[in-house]
Amino acid sequence: MPEVVIIGGGVSGLSTAYYLARAGVASTIIESRPRLGGVVQTERVDGCVIEAGPDSFLSAKPAALELIRELGLDGDVIGSNDHLRRTYVRRGGRLVPLPDGLLMMVPTKILPLVTTRLLGWRTKVRMGMELLRAPKPKADDESVAEFIEEHYGAEAVDYLAEPLLSGIYGGDPRELSVTSVLGRFVELANQYGSLTRGVLAERAKAARRHAAPAPLFRTMKGGLGQMVEAMTGAIGGRMEVRHGRAEAVERADGGFRVKVAGDWVDANNLVMACEAHSASALLAGVDGRLAGLLGEVPYSSSMTVALGFEAGEFPGAGVARPDGFGFLVPKKERRRLVACTWVGTKFPYRVPEGKVVARCFLGGRADAAVLEEPDEAVIAAVTGELRQIAGVTATPRFTRVFRWPRSMAQYTVGHPRRVAAIEARVAAIPGLHLAGNAYQGIGIPDCIRMGRQAARRITGPGDR
Ligand SMILES: Cc1cc2nc3c(=O)[nH]c(=O)nc-3n(C[C@H](O)[C@H](O)[C@H](O)COP(=O)(O)OP(=O)(O)OC[C@H]3O[C@@H](n4cnc5c(N)ncnc54)[C@H](O)[C@@H]3O)c2cc1C
Repeated sequence: MPEVVIIGGGVSGLSTAYYLARAGVASTIIESRPRLGGVVQTERVDGCVIEAGPDSFLSAKPAALELIRELGLDGDVIGSNDHLRRTYVRRGGRLVPLPDGLLMMVPTKILPLVTTRLLGWRTKVRMGMELLRAPKPKADDESVAEFIEEHYGAEAVDYLAEPLLSGIYGGDPRELSVTSVLGRFVELANQYGSLTRGVLAERAKAARRHAAPAPLFRTMKGGLGQMVEAMTGAIGGRMEVRHGRAEAVERADGGFRVKVAGDWVDANNLVMACEAHSASALLAGVDGRLAGLLGEVPYSSSMTVALGFEAGEFPGAGVARPDGFGFLVPKKERRRLVACTWVGTKFPYRVPEGKVVARCFLGGRADAAVLEEPDEAVIAAVTGELRQIAGVTATPRFTRVFRWPRSMAQYTVGHPRRVAAIEARVAAIPGLHLAGNAYQGIGIPDCIRMGRQAARRITGPGDR
């Protein structure tokens, strides 16, 4: 029977333990925080469901929904309120809606593009001309900014790509790898030349298949913490949890031993499901080259701040009401706030009638320093900016600040090559496995898929 130790009890480590348990294999999770779930953390405050970390997952990637179905939670899956979908971007001190028909930064409808105040005429003309672009396939990775600028111009980077990607990755499009972050767009551009034509062709194919439009994002009625609790419950006695920091990893008797709280725990299979920088420090004595490669994956730090208001204090006339899903602040116009979601508009079951919850996102590559500031200073900055940007004059009835230091891996240019080198190195060390947001996808479905893969490598191909 394999003795499995998993370092890291976030979604990646927990899904590894879950798929192992389903195959009848027990494991030990070592987790330094006092709870499981990693950055997934749901709190209930004043009747509102508050997500401290992720709030939803992409519907298009199946692993999360597959797991949720196995856990018997299908009935608790909810979608975003897509009929209310509208996102604003701050431009010239005002909130301007993203034009209708935009798929990330790709325009697919002419009229909204022509009439939007978010982009100038030069960019609009350039976006139209992009339809005539001939294929120029590229072999090498490049940055998201280079790719988008080549198709749609610099303004599309500053007012579309940058705010959208800052809100997702806390990252800078000038650093992020287009192959890793927008891989499908690269394939379409290589095939069609014009990215817009590629996206339109793909959409037409989907329409021919009569694929009913699914909500873009899904989550759980009780928050994503519900998934963590259900996984933990389903694993039951097949998982031992040791709360403490894994301090060292050594090779021992053809396997490994891990030091935690002064004890050594033996493993013939070791799953590193912690952040790559943490895995790097732990594996220095096992394989120096692998540790070096893992240490090269940059991370961003982020912070979410939830503020609860009484809806009655949001007067209609003259004051911007929480219209749409929220807003993004491009770097060119940013002070502290990167993005804000009106939680009760984006999702059902989150915010009871009569209340308004703003969930603000701060930090990222450009402002890691915000994590060092005391809560009061952060809340003062956020309420000040909400007033200035969205006209929110109400006083918050509750506030919550959540800090996520070095938690979001950054897929910078060269990421695919770096990950291939990491995986080759790991494959040469029997019994060592990796799962986590630093490798094959940052989102929750990707982390679940990597956890499942790690479990299957341990149990063998039998459990499909
Ligand atoms: C603020 C925020 C918002 C996000 N929003 C979304 C979203 O809406 N949708 C989406 O799909 N994704 C989102 N993501 C990304 C996604 O949530 C994460 O990529 C994913 O949950 C990471 O899971 P993980 O298990 O790989 O890592 P983590 O959740 O970071 O877990 C790693 C765990 O390892 C533990 N650990 C590290 N070192 C050690 C050690 N030496 N010993 C013991 N334990 C250790 C840590 O304490 C941690 O609990 C968001 C991420 C953040 C930070």
